Amino acid sequence: MKKQFIAGNWKMNLTLEEARGLAKKLCDGLADSEAVDVGVFPSFVYLKDICDILSDSKVFVGAQNMNREKCGAFTGEVSGEMLRDIGCTHVIIGHSERRTIYQETDSMINSKIKAALFNDLSPILCVGEKQEERDADKTREVVENQLSGGLENLTSEQVKGLTIAYEPVWAIGTGKTATPEQANEVHAFIRNTMRSKYDNDTAQSMRIQYGGSVNSKNAKELLGQPEIDGALVGGASLDSNSFLDIVSEAVRAS
Ligand code: PEP
Repeated sequence: MKKQFIAGNWKMNLTLEEARGLAKKLCDGLADSEAVDVGVFPSFVYLKDICDILSDSKVFVGAQNMNREKCGAFTGEVSGEMLRDIGCTHVIIGHSERRTIYQETDSMINSKIKAALFNDLSPILCVGEKQEERDADKTREVVENQLSGGLENLTSEQVKGLTIAYEPVWAIGTGKTATPEQANEVHAFIRNTMRSKYDNDTAQSMRIQYGGSVNSKNAKELLGQPEIDGALVGGASLDSNSFLDIVSEAVRAS
């Protein structure tokens, strides 16, 4: 069984003081937690502070996005090298909000994943279908296309350390959650796709998180599913008690 990975996507939320306070509470609350991996993804402007606060803890710190280019005239952007330089170890790539609001394509996402790996950052690649795509029975097709576009030309060695987050878009921030069975079915499909694209060893070594309105109440059932290796949590990660409760459910499911 793989170690579960619980990640908190703080999105564009919190003041600096609130972000620092939340990181300190997580640091105290997770002091002995070895059984699961935990990571937080604050806004760019808070990353250095949060990296410093969590530097002696086991909590990973990552960014919510990055630029695919190495450096240069890209006003307002942040490179993988910069993230690595301040102590980040992870980066979320291809979140549905980036795909939808900022028109990120699979090819851009693929370049970002390559740039992240080049800079020794572990990517969390987000995939997932919209409501109308699920209604049209296109979930598998959409997810398969996002996987093949996002992972184009990556070797099995490169993808082994990668995390995939299955996040049905209709469940993000809506309070609607995929049923544990719905989520497990798509996770199994993702694992099989990785098996066909690479090999069994690679497919088994990758962690597949579920994301979409995960909270302390539904975490137990979701994390108890055989194909679910953790969660990418948005709203509920902004409250230390809810987030720590989700981590505890992951520990129990391990
Ligand atoms: C997310 O932002 O990736 C997410 C899953 O958000 P929420 O948990 O709020 O649905």
